[in-house]
Amino acid sequence: MAITNPPPHVYTTTGLDRAVARRRDSAWLAARRHDPTSLVVALADLKILVADQPAGPDPFPLDAAALGGAVPEPAIFLGLWNERAVFALDLGSEEPGLPLRAVELRALAPVLSAAEAGLLAYARALVHWHRMQRFCGRCGGTLELRDAGHAKRCPACAVEFFPRTDPAVIVLVTAGDRCVLGRAARFPPGMYSTLAGFVEPGESLEAAVRREVEEEVGLEVEALVYRSSQPWPFPQSLMLGFRARARFAPLRVDAEELEDARWFERAELADEARRPVRLPGADSIARFLIEEWLFEPDP
Ligand SMILES: [Zn+2]
Repeated sequence: MAITNPPPHVYTTTGLDRAVARRRDSAWLAARRHDPTSLVVALADLKILVADQPAGPDPFPLDAAALGGAVPEPAIFLGLWNERAVFALDLGSEEPGLPLRAVELRALAPVLSAAEAGLLAYARALVHWHRMQRFCGRCGGTLELRDAGHAKRCPACAVEFFPRTDPAVIVLVTAGDRCVLGRAARFPPGMYSTLAGFVEPGESLEAAVRREVEEEVGLEVEALVYRSSQPWPFPQSLMLGFRARARFAPLRVDAEELEDARWFERAELADEARRPVRLPGADSIARFLIEEWLFEPDP
């Protein structure tokens, strides 16, 4: 395998200046909330509100002017997008009126630029965190917003809370010209993917990969190589992608985790016409890990 860094995957922030220093600049933020050129990513039930335009869906259907003159206080400051401040606003379960519609980010991703998909993923992840982290985990008190929505603090016991990202390992296991793919019951029909699981407290990434592969298919992994990572805001994961070698052996599939897992040959997966299963979506690091192996010039 060539030692190169893959390009950023979909849902990685690329086109946004996070402008972290501005999160505590209350005068500047107040001015941006009243600035008619500021932009708002609005979400209803974690779906993105879009307006259909001839050029494609516009993920910024609201601007400060459309919101009655100001971006409301709970909106989260995301950063600067082409030098315009951009905020994420949770509209709860409100159904948008036409011409707006609420669309799942994954359904929208194929028609967005990588930078837009990254911005919307960031907005979705933060709005999800705001919905889940409403009260203090220690005393149950209602939390105050800090840092323009990037932290919360309990006024009663002073505990601070920060947006959560859950690390998960995802791994393509190979043996020569074969690789292991499995399917969980929740997958779309016919789809097989790489093995994956959450990292547990006290575990290194390598240990998590070894444990997941052993648990899910009963294989012992011999060599691990980290490839790349992908933010996966469905709802709050960071996928850490690996390649691992194992000895070819019958799989012992964990029926709790997987409906099925099999060895597949490189040739049958590489040829779309012969491919016996569906591969994961083009927006996923799972697809990247599989295709990187399938089409590498010098296997
Ligand atoms: Zn508290």
